[in-house]
Amino acid sequence: AGEQRAELVARALTVRFGGLTALAEASLRVKPGEVHALIGPNGAGKSTFVNTISGFYQPTEGAFELDGVQLAGMRSHEIARVGLARTFQNTELFGELSVLENVMVGYQQRLTYGVAAAVLRSPAMRRQERDCRRAAIGLLAFVGLEDYAHEAARFLPFGLQRRLEIARALAAGPRLLLLDEPAAGLTTQEIDELEAMIRRIAGLGISVLLIEHHVELIMAVADTVTVLDYGQVIASDTPARVQDDPRVIEAYFGT
Ligand code: ADP
Ligand code: MG
Repeated sequence: AGEQRAELVARALTVRFGGLTALAEASLRVKPGEVHALIGPNGAGKSTFVNTISGFYQPTEGAFELDGVQLAGMRSHEIARVGLARTFQNTELFGELSVLENVMVGYQQRLTYGVAAAVLRSPAMRRQERDCRRAAIGLLAFVGLEDYAHEAARFLPFGLQRRLEIARALAAGPRLLLLDEPAAGLTTQEIDELEAMIRRIAGLGISVLLIEHHVELIMAVADTVTVLDYGQVIASDTPARVQDDPRVIEAYFGT
């Protein structure tokens, strides 16, 4: 799977909202195949970073690329095609659709047939639908949701909805997966399961950018930790070294 490992490079990203600078020349590199955690106090700019590199916000300045493909200026669906998928801090599923259909929506983003084929329901299209369904079932098994395939997403317990969101993002076939606070609201046992899932995703060769507050989870899975404070990168290193960094300690427990 080595050849699909993706490198994300963000160079001096600045994002302003009117007079507020949410990101100030933030640079970050997610190395191919690594689990990279992005941490920082509330309001530090973590979600802004994710929203920018996934095409939901436009940067005021700066550049970012996935395996050398410039992404700045692209819209979110174009960035998804290049190989970057994400989950949201607040789960955004299609509640009325079944669990399986939610994952199939993720696949549909990469189906190749056009409008004419959709109207005529060509054999090629039906074959793609069948493949899509089979692949979606496989992904549900990967995240442990195969027993819930035909339930409406909104009836899933919260922890399983978060898993479904990850499955749907994986359905888009990313080389880089962005997870925005995936452990928020989970029980201790669910966080352990999330840790195992992140390892399995990394094991597929998919690079992971993980926004997270949960320190034990970060220490357990991250290869690299980047720390944002007031929109600026104040540290980027191994978890152990970042934990001992005086600037990081000050940002969290500052005087
Ligand atoms: P974090 O995810 O680290 O908690 P955010 O990226 O959500 O931080 O927010 C960083 C700063 O940018 C905050 O001051 C926040 O209020 C502001 N911000 C984020 N998104 C917007 C937006 N769409 N419009 C205006 N201000 C925003
Ligand atoms: Mg946030």
